Amino acid sequence: MPGTLVFLEDHEGELVKGSLGVLSKAAQLGGDVAAVVAGSGVRELAAQAGRYGAATAYAADDPALAAPLPQPRVDVLAALVSEQGFDTVLFGASVLSADVAAGLAARLGAGLNWDLVDLELRDRKLVGRRPALQDSVYAEVGWTSEPRLALVRSGTFEPVESGGEAEVEDVVVELQGFSTQAVMVERAHAESEGPSIEDADVIVAGGRGLGEPAKFALLEELARALGGAVAATRAVVDAGWYPYAAQVGQTGRTVAPKLYVACGISGAIQHKVGMQASGTIVAINKDPNAPIFEYADVGVVGDLHQIVPRLTELVKERRA
Ligand SMILES: Cc1cc2nc3c(=O)[nH]c(=O)nc-3n(C[C@H](O)[C@H](O)[C@H](O)COP(=O)(O)OP(=O)(O)OC[C@H]3O[C@@H](n4cnc5c(N)ncnc54)[C@H](O)[C@@H]3O)c2cc1C
Repeated sequence: MPGTLVFLEDHEGELVKGSLGVLSKAAQLGGDVAAVVAGSGVRELAAQAGRYGAATAYAADDPALAAPLPQPRVDVLAALVSEQGFDTVLFGASVLSADVAAGLAARLGAGLNWDLVDLELRDRKLVGRRPALQDSVYAEVGWTSEPRLALVRSGTFEPVESGGEAEVEDVVVELQGFSTQAVMVERAHAESEGPSIEDADVIVAGGRGLGEPAKFALLEELARALGGAVAATRAVVDAGWYPYAAQVGQTGRTVAPKLYVACGISGAIQHKVGMQASGTIVAINKDPNAPIFEYADVGVVGDLHQIVPRLTELVKERRA
């Protein structure tokens, strides 16, 4: 029976929030919605898909899928789509999901629309919404053939628990010879505490106004006090002040925390596109004409080196 298949990504024993948000959206759109989880020891995780609206959860559970490599997952999805006849396959954007989506599009000769920020059914046809020209306009996009593949911008849809239960079906994993040629040599983890910038409700972000890399410590202390994460602009990432994983913007991550505190950030359009969906934007900048004040909800004109430590003290006092 045709329907929608959502690729659920897992990381360290949990389903990734972005892909669950896409599953919730698919369930809202209606029709037959299934999810697939591909990895090693993921059967339990697959069962959780029911809570977010999947009627069927396919578990491709095989040690050969332990490493987060795309091609073996393309094999799993290509077989499922061919056998079950799904007309739509949805992905929440991440490095792995983007690779899987692109590989699946090539394997099936299917059309892939990417960087979508909305999906709707119009006259029973799926229509995607995609930002263009640095997010200054939106274009509506469609598909000319099935299956329709879509990669949704991270942070677009919140996961919504609907309380259902999924029927878990085990998938027999058969990998192509060429899909197992790439091997994961090593996985290194950056030492970090607190939530990731995609999951954090509060983000404290720093730009060139910090003056030097060591001053990120000020932001880390404020983020710790607020239970949040630290992000950065491309200017400071390019300068080697902070890791790329923390970069927010057009060529970095897209985030949507409840609170975004921008410190020493001018607010260039390429930064704005990565954080404009934040609930409340607070900007601290010594230049009253900085572009960020045009879209900040709260603006503080002043030297961040004085304001941030004071703010951290106040937050700590309030929380004590
Ligand atoms: C193709 C392309 C892609 C890009 N992708 C991204 C992206 O993904 N993310 C991104 O962020 N940028 C991106 N950029 C770069 C972007 O255009 C800006 O150059 C960058 O965001 C500026 O970073 P910044 O705000 O840290 O630095 P600046 O623009 O130099 O701003 C520093 C700010 O700090 C303020 N300041 C200085 N001292 C203090 C102080 N003591 N207290 C308070 N405020 C102070 C200044 O008034 C200024 O407004 C991209 C650019 C291009 C062309």
